[in-house]
Amino acid sequence: MIIVLRQGTPQAEIDHLTDMIVGQGISVNPIVGSDLTILGLIGDTSRVDPTQLESFQCVERIMHVAEPFKKANRMFHPGNSVIEAGGATIGGKGLAVMAGPCSVESREQITTVAKAVKAAGATVLRGGAFKPRTSPYAFQGLKYEGLELLKAAREETGLPIVSELMSPYDIERFVEDVDIIQVGARNMQNFDLLRQLGKTQKPILLKRGLSATIEEWLMSAEYIMAGGNSNVILCERGIRTFETYTRNTVDLSAVLAVKKLSHLPVVVDPSHGTGKRWMVPPMARAAIAVGADGLMVEVHNDPQHALCDGQQSITPDDFTQVMAEIRAIAQAVGRDI
Ligand code: PEP
Ligand code: MN
Repeated sequence: MIIVLRQGTPQAEIDHLTDMIVGQGISVNPIVGSDLTILGLIGDTSRVDPTQLESFQCVERIMHVAEPFKKANRMFHPGNSVIEAGGATIGGKGLAVMAGPCSVESREQITTVAKAVKAAGATVLRGGAFKPRTSPYAFQGLKYEGLELLKAAREETGLPIVSELMSPYDIERFVEDVDIIQVGARNMQNFDLLRQLGKTQKPILLKRGLSATIEEWLMSAEYIMAGGNSNVILCERGIRTFETYTRNTVDLSAVLAVKKLSHLPVVVDPSHGTGKRWMVPPMARAAIAVGADGLMVEVHNDPQHALCDGQQSITPDDFTQVMAEIRAIAQAVGRDI
């Protein structure tokens, strides 16, 4: 980090600022020019609060030379992270495909879909038990019963399960019940929740916030990792832009950016990303072509009667077709499935 000081700052003020920074375990290297004085900060500057620095009258400008995320940063972990979750691997040469309904609706529904996606080659079963709905009057999920039904579907198919956690009160239950805990887009910056998840060793699927920048997303991963849990999987699920044709705008360039900046695996969710069933297969293909480590896809046996997100759910037959298509693309980009 570099701090440019205002012209003519008295030495006493520079000393005061320097003492504050040194007090945080960081060394300060002053460069005194004829017009400007610059302070070079050396050490773990992630602990320095830039807004605190800016509150000093003598600070003209702050420049970051390194990203604020450390544990998630590829600079400090050049190899790709590979995460194991209930027998599935995410981030290795093989692609991870998480598929299943938006919400768990009944025993029959979840087991039917689970068997179908397993047969098509999915590696993880998804299913929401606690649903973050915009309307409080919309179906909120089967909650604990939904978790029980997911466990039964896992038992029947052998597929590990991923489901969204919304409240810190349910962490213990989720750690016990699911193989991957999903943090939804709306909770990406629920820092208390992230901090609590950092105390577990459970794989966490961290979805990108509705309007989160890549840096904010990686800082949320950092919250989990700072607590000691490095099992973080990122999920690009589209961001809100001025475009209203699609539910969200799938930011496939974010996959490239994240892969460059971080060692964490990243999967793409073309279902919430587009909100349109017919766009899911081509966007799934594009995601694999661009280098995503896998997908999260909503699959429903009867999309027209789905209790949530039927408009963006594909059928098991469509999913089987998507798997065949991404197999070919995976081979072209040096991945297995
Ligand atoms: C989901 O995956 O069920 C979900 C609600 O997604 P998001 O948090 O990305 O909206
Ligand atoms: Mn959904």
